[in-house]
Amino acid sequence: ATPTAVMVATGKGASQGVLIKGGDALEKAHKVKIVVFDKTGTLTAGKPTVVSAKIFSKFSMEEFCNVVIAVEANSEHPIAKAVVEHAKKFRKEYGSQTEQSSEVKDFEVHPGAGVGGKVGERMILIGNRRLMWASNVPVLPEVDAYISENEELARTCILVSINGRLAGALAVTDPVKPEAARVISFLQSMSITCIMVTGDNYATATAIGKEVGIQEVFAETDPLGKADRIKELQMKGTTVAMVGDGINDSPALVAADVGLAIGAGTDVAIEAADIVLIKSNLEDVITAIDLSRKTISRIR
Ligand code: ADP
Ligand code: MG
Repeated sequence: ATPTAVMVATGKGASQGVLIKGGDALEKAHKVKIVVFDKTGTLTAGKPTVVSAKIFSKFSMEEFCNVVIAVEANSEHPIAKAVVEHAKKFRKEYGSQTEQSSEVKDFEVHPGAGVGGKVGERMILIGNRRLMWASNVPVLPEVDAYISENEELARTCILVSINGRLAGALAVTDPVKPEAARVISFLQSMSITCIMVTGDNYATATAIGKEVGIQEVFAETDPLGKADRIKELQMKGTTVAMVGDGINDSPALVAADVGLAIGAGTDVAIEAADIVLIKSNLEDVITAIDLSRKTISRIR
């Protein structure tokens, strides 16, 4: 496209809340054959809430909440915010007088898996099943049943271990965006394949996929794994777009031919992307492709 055509399209995009950072993305977007969507915060609202909690140990709800609050207060993850909020409410309901959090030592982030730290003499781990496996924390059948039950309902389970023993679990729900299914069905009608890639587990991801109409799901993928998926899809010369919101999506946003960041996402994702969807509305994935198509057909 000519510099003028790019300028016109960029201006038009900006007025519609689609920030196009350069001519390159604009020229590639009309060729997109595959759109890869992150799950949390992209297909879903990214505002998780805790819908259930269960203790699997001798610990009281108050003790359980105390360690959970202490450790998760150090995490930036949206799940952590939901968990802290819920645990504080729960603690109060159980009649606790405590309002403050305990101190945490050796706080650690396990990307795509969870967090950990020491509260007093207690070693705490909070995260998914993989984190428990990796740390040799046994997940008993009773816990397994609770997890499966919730994952089938498209919820994510957060497991909590204290001193190497599974102490309890929380189930988190994050509803899909109202426009998600419509946008995916529209893209599919344009012969564009839609794929999901997520750090979350397969059962939850598949359940969300069903809700939005995506059959192809890559789950339990870490940030570099997400980028590897994009590169695999590009191998036959296919033009691939990636839509994401998180720090964990930035390598994939860079790897993709067209990286689209959700405006409400993290700064790192916005910087890594070629196009920013200011309104955080998935309809604008179509707006961006449309702008590119119109720009390219005009000059031909
Ligand atoms: P996504 O790709 O869906 O945005 P992430 O890669 O950020 O997901 O995280 C993957 C999974 O790791 C989450 O679904 C959750 O189970 C677990 N996890 C990550 N951070 C935390 C945390 N702070 N507390 C509990 N669980 C976490
Ligand atoms: Mg995300």
